[in-house]
Order: sequence, then C-alpha cells, then structure tokens
Amino acid sequence: MQIQPLEQPPKPRRRRKVRAQDVLDYLGADYGPAQWHVRYSPAEELVYTILSQHTSDLNSERAFTNLMSVFESLDAVADAPVEAIEEAIRRGGLAKQKAPRIKNVLGQIREEIGSFDLTFLADMPLDEAKAWLKRLNGIGPKTAAIILCFSLGMPAMPVDTHIFRVSKRLGLIGPKVNADKAHDLLEPMVAPQDVFAFHMYLIQHGRQVCKAQRPNCNECVLAWGCRERPKIEREAKRLRSKRPSKSK
Ligand code: SF4
Repeated sequence: MQIQPLEQPPKPRRRRKVRAQDVLDYLGADYGPAQWHVRYSPAEELVYTILSQHTSDLNSERAFTNLMSVFESLDAVADAPVEAIEEAIRRGGLAKQKAPRIKNVLGQIREEIGSFDLTFLADMPLDEAKAWLKRLNGIGPKTAAIILCFSLGMPAMPVDTHIFRVSKRLGLIGPKVNADKAHDLLEPMVAPQDVFAFHMYLIQHGRQVCKAQRPNCNECVLAWGCRERPKIEREAKRLRSKRPSKSK
C-alpha cells in the first residue's frame, strides 16, 4: 500500500501559539509519514544508546557493530574485561567512560532477570516500564524512553537535544523547563499513537531547519506562531547592522 503524503494545512489566519497538533500537521506534511521499525532488541538498544552519547550516529553505529562482531553476544560483552570492551568501542569516543557503564548495566540486568530479554516491559503500563528501566545504573528518562519507543513500540517520548531546543523555541514548553521534566510535559501532549511521529518530526526539524546556531526561520512552516522567532530575527538584524559595509 502506498502511503499518501499529508497535505500542508494553511497558515492560521490569526497569530496564535503553536500546539503539539500543529507539529503533527505542519511538519508531518513537510517530512512525510513517520515509519516505525525495530532497530535492535531492547537490551541492544540500551547498549547502543550508551554508545551514542556525545557522538555522531555514524560513530555510534560503528562502535556498536564492532562491539557485537568482537563479542557476538551481550552475554560475552557482560563477561568481558572492561579493557576489552573499551578497545572494541574505541571508535565511538569516550570509550573509557562508556565501557564500564555498559558492563555494569548488562551485569545488573542479567543478575535481575537471568537474561537480556527485556520484552516483558511491553506488557507493563508505560510508567512502570519506565520506572523499571530507570532503576538501572546510568539509565535516565531519555534512555528509558528510547528503549521503550524504538524497540518495543511503546508511546514513550525520548527528548534529545534537538527536541528540547525546538520545543522550547516553539513555546511548547517553558523556557526554564529542564530536559528531564520535558519528557513528562511533551509526551502527554499528543495521543499515544502519535508520540513516535511527534518525536521524529521535532528531531528532523531540529536537524534540518531549526538548527542550534542558525535556525532557518524563513524556511520554517511553524514560523507563524513560534515564540522565539521575533527574538532570533532581532538578533540576526543586530548582527547584520554591526557588519562593516563593503566599500565600493
Ligand atoms: S521559526 Fe525559527 S526558531 Fe522557530 S521553530 Fe522555526 S526555525 Fe526554529
């Protein structure tokens, strides 16, 4: 079956705040349907997420692939000396910090449930599944949400740096909200079946348009109601006026 792209809604006639539904409608029309597919098992996703901290997707994928090709199973990773794990993940960066974290959390899971099969989390209510994961060493709201959302298809909303920045600029969350709290605020803004798309659209927008340093407000389909846009444009104007004019 061919998935039809969504139609771009018209700009609101009156100025109003951007709502979560606008993110789904306007960005959905721009970026197309968000398609969920399982990437890794939940425990592998957990390891991958640790590897992805403070590095690019490419580096974390390389580090994860190398780790699994060296050890072949999570059991073998959990049994390996920290130095061997460190060596296997070196290309992902921060290997000295990440290797003991991986060994530690895998050991903790195996001790608790006797395996690395975390699929039982899918049968729990969302809050309980999150709480189960967040008890593990070094697992915060973002990692817990990534595992539940990406591996198990649960309606958990991971808030990464792009989502945090874009949702603040748009005014979906207040300027003083921290990243942990943002998870609790953003997730219930949309229906459970839309959480994954909401996550994907905000990330894509943060990467392509609402970039950290130079947001491209002229190209933004949500510019009509963005809270931060007037401030960003004033600042851009101020910087332009400071540039020395070219002599003829
Ligand atoms: S208008 Fe500018 S600051 Fe606001 S979301 Fe769009 S790109 Fe980001």
